[in-house]
Amino acid sequence: MASMSAADFGQFAQGSQESSEESQTSPSPFPSSMHESTANATWSRMLQGNKRFAEGKAEHPWQDKETRNMLTDGQKPDAAVLACADSRVPPEIIFDQGLGDLFTVRTAGQMIDDAVIASLEYAVKKLHVSLLCVLGHGRCGALQMAERELNDLIHAITAEADDSLETADLMDSLDERLAQSDSIVLRQAGISVWQARQAEADCLDDIERVHVAHTIEMLVERSEIIRQALASEQLMIVGARYQLDTGRVEVLSF
Ligand SMILES: [Zn+2]
Repeated sequence: MASMSAADFGQFAQGSQESSEESQTSPSPFPSSMHESTANATWSRMLQGNKRFAEGKAEHPWQDKETRNMLTDGQKPDAAVLACADSRVPPEIIFDQGLGDLFTVRTAGQMIDDAVIASLEYAVKKLHVSLLCVLGHGRCGALQMAERELNDLIHAITAEADDSLETADLMDSLDERLAQSDSIVLRQAGISVWQARQAEADCLDDIERVHVAHTIEMLVERSEIIRQALASEQLMIVGARYQLDTGRVEVLSF
């Protein structure tokens, strides 16, 4: 199957925003099959948890000894979250969730490699999560590092060219050069920065949004399991960006 376009992600993300509010504030952690666990309901519950957190009304659900004991025989999280490893952005805290709720994978700048993909595929194929949230955030240091590396590369390209014509030629092939770079920061986040600049959306906030979209695109492109789960409507992917100043999660649609 061909890789999905950004528009495809938008359908899923927008669908999630139409979900109804739930009165229940937290899911029972196990077995969640006894509760409604559709992707929309899960996302709605996570956003409600984020609202509580942002308002200073976090309930810290399902973090007691009884829950811990109940989960010893297995887990059935409703959602997987791929987030930045930034110490200010722990998904369980900012979504006010408990033990057994979220299957979380975190790397700097939520960059993906084989281990990240294998972990998310485990969540989709074995744990049957119905929702995958790719979560970026404000003032992401990994993306600021990517900006610096990209600027250094562009500086080097300009320096190695004999004239402006050659510079233009080299810049035309920058996409290819980034894709083939030895640096994972340039290969993934550097491309996001470059895409944002080309769309004249190059403030850090916009770069962070573009990077979430680009990350989802790469995940779908690289994982047959995720593609199949999307196609069979067993999985919904949402993109989001956490705002440090407000504590709120901004839902992105592409
Ligand atoms: Zn970050």
